[in-house]
Amino acid sequence: MADKYLDMVNSGFTATLAKKLGLPRPARLRRWSTQTPLLPGPLLVLGSSARAQALSDTLVSWGLDVRRNDAGGAKLGGLILLLDELTHPEQLSPLMLAAGQAVRQLVPGARVVSISRPALATDEPAVAAVRQGIDGAIRSLGRELRAGATANGILLTGDAEADSPSVLAATHFFLSGRSAYVDGQFLQVSGNAGELPESFDAPLAGKVVAVTGAARGIGAAIAATLYRDGATVIVVDMPGASDALSKVANRVSGTALQLDVTAADAGTRIIEHARARHGQLDLVIHNAGITRDKLLANMDAGRWDSVIAVNIASQLRMNEQLLAADLPGLRVVSLASTSGIAGNRGQSNYAASKGGVIGMVRASAEDFAANGGTINAVAPGFIETEMTAKIPLGTRTVARMVLPSLMQGGLPLDVAEAIGFLAWDASQGINGQTLRVCGQSLVGA
Ligand code: NAD
Repeated sequence: MADKYLDMVNSGFTATLAKKLGLPRPARLRRWSTQTPLLPGPLLVLGSSARAQALSDTLVSWGLDVRRNDAGGAKLGGLILLLDELTHPEQLSPLMLAAGQAVRQLVPGARVVSISRPALATDEPAVAAVRQGIDGAIRSLGRELRAGATANGILLTGDAEADSPSVLAATHFFLSGRSAYVDGQFLQVSGNAGELPESFDAPLAGKVVAVTGAARGIGAAIAATLYRDGATVIVVDMPGASDALSKVANRVSGTALQLDVTAADAGTRIIEHARARHGQLDLVIHNAGITRDKLLANMDAGRWDSVIAVNIASQLRMNEQLLAADLPGLRVVSLASTSGIAGNRGQSNYAASKGGVIGMVRASAEDFAANGGTINAVAPGFIETEMTAKIPLGTRTVARMVLPSLMQGGLPLDVAEAIGFLAWDASQGINGQTLRVCGQSLVGA
């Protein structure tokens, strides 16, 4: 349905008609492919940073045509704004105005990435003002860009610099087609640990990954995407889903584990399966989830309790077992939702569970870091799945085309790409965070 509309507004006579009628015209998003360049044109780097030269050198090594401070009127595939040295809001003017000129040169599917520092309560007021101001400016730019272009930001924390491995990893992700449906978001990056992959075509080579709820929907897309990126995949789902699960396992040349994640020993069984069949476990994706929507006034214990049991209580228990098992460098990524950030009518139980995921990853970050690992969440907005296909057409159209800056729903693949990136070795400095994959939806903005 969404694809048909995309086709209609992007080709031939119907595109002209849609323009004349003033219909929303979502762009075809630029998604990752090993066959296409990282960016669809030259990259302009504006501003200054202690490690600007080292950053530029890496960008060049990725095959990018990098221009420093002057694009000479060329069309641009991307723009990086180095803003981490600013100390007063008045210093923003020349850089943002230059960025405004550069934005006119952006080609469809272009990327804008800012590199700055988070505003802290301990900062001088003027320093905190400019840092928080950058957040507002970049999110606003995200809402102004058209033709599938996006704007996102990286926040350097602790001793992270513009050329730290995790900053480079986040930069690569934001510039690439992997971040097609991530827009108006900021990621905090700390430290200098982690190593960039030898090849961005297979950044998960050698990793063993378990994905729960993988028999269909987003879970099946996560399995396929992590397999594409080089991982060995264990797909986990309810015993009742065995046919669908085996098909997914076959498609990704992986193994299947029939398991209800609410079982008391679910974490231990995943570890045992991974060790017995693959000799290791490097990454767990808590994707299994359910909805049992009702207005709170009509809610019953069955609906409330089952959603909490599957969506959050099971994850808390599995994490305890994962931490107790001593798995050095273990990564965990959990599925939250924009409903857990903004709330959603009829979803108080679901939002409690998904808000719970956001709180859980923040509070578990230190425990996972103690053994060299990380735990993060991804919060999808409106994603085109069997689940969302059941939403009434009017609500679906608003969620898909009116609310997100990108004027369309995301694909399961878009969620999977963000999860894959958080699992890279180089993403070591990203911990305890929730990355929204929502096309910059107004929901939870
Ligand atoms: P889906 O219903 O299509 O798939 C969920 C899978 O989880 C199913 O295969 C199901 O069998 C499995 N599952 C359910 N309970 C389980 C249990 N107790 N043990 C093992 N497996 C179990 O859902 P989806 O749309 O693919 O969503 C996947 C995740 O993404 C969920 O956590 C969901 O809350 C989240 N999410 C989805 C959207 C969206 O727009 N589709 C938006 C935000 C968040």
